Amino acid sequence: MNQPHTILVVEDESSIASFVALYLKNAGYIVKTVPTGSAALNQIAAGMPSMIILDLNLPDMDGIEICRRIRKSSDVPILMLTARDEDVDKIIGLEVGADDYLTKPFNPRELVARVKSVLRRAGPERRRDEMKELHHGELSINAGKREVYVGDDEIQLAPKEFDLLWELLDHRGLVLTRDQLLERVWGYTFAGDTRTVDVHVRQVRRKLGDASPIVTVWGVGYKVASERTPAPTRAV
Ligand code: CA
Repeated sequence: MNQPHTILVVEDESSIASFVALYLKNAGYIVKTVPTGSAALNQIAAGMPSMIILDLNLPDMDGIEICRRIRKSSDVPILMLTARDEDVDKIIGLEVGADDYLTKPFNPRELVARVKSVLRRAGPERRRDEMKELHHGELSINAGKREVYVGDDEIQLAPKEFDLLWELLDHRGLVLTRDQLLERVWGYTFAGDTRTVDVHVRQVRRKLGDASPIVTVWGVGYKVASERTPAPTRAV
């Protein structure tokens, strides 16, 4: 039997926190709610939940700051709650490594659907499969063998070019900033020279040609677009 997932809800508005908790409990999850960022970090230090639902505007700490701190040590799925429907908030939410976001006010059923979807994507089996090989159109890349193919042709990438491509493909649909890529691919923990990222992206594009899935997001960073197939939830 699977253990029920534990979800940490970080939300200072008690009415929102309690209805979110109610819906998640009804969906079979174990829920803990905390009203502040510092309480959230304490809770996380005591034991990592399966997923975190994180309000962007908290009294003591910015949700983005909390997200960044968590991401330094963990890939735990994070869903951000934002108060305004502004693109900036959305991008920032994804930029700092959140898995998904919802804009208030939201339908609690939508929240439960998102939580299920995020947890499914983060599931260990799925992750293990994805760790073996990733595909995008004609492109396939194998992590174990560190091989990249476009159709039947093997493409030789330098180690960091390979890691960069993998990182972007593994987060397809999400924008990764240059700083984030530096940190994840090169292991810098502070802002390094982000031109390194641009140079490597240019090389990957040159080597892959039309098969390159990397999209520039102006003023933010890079991403790999989702494949041109309809999203599963929208499929007829
Ligand atoms: Ca709030």
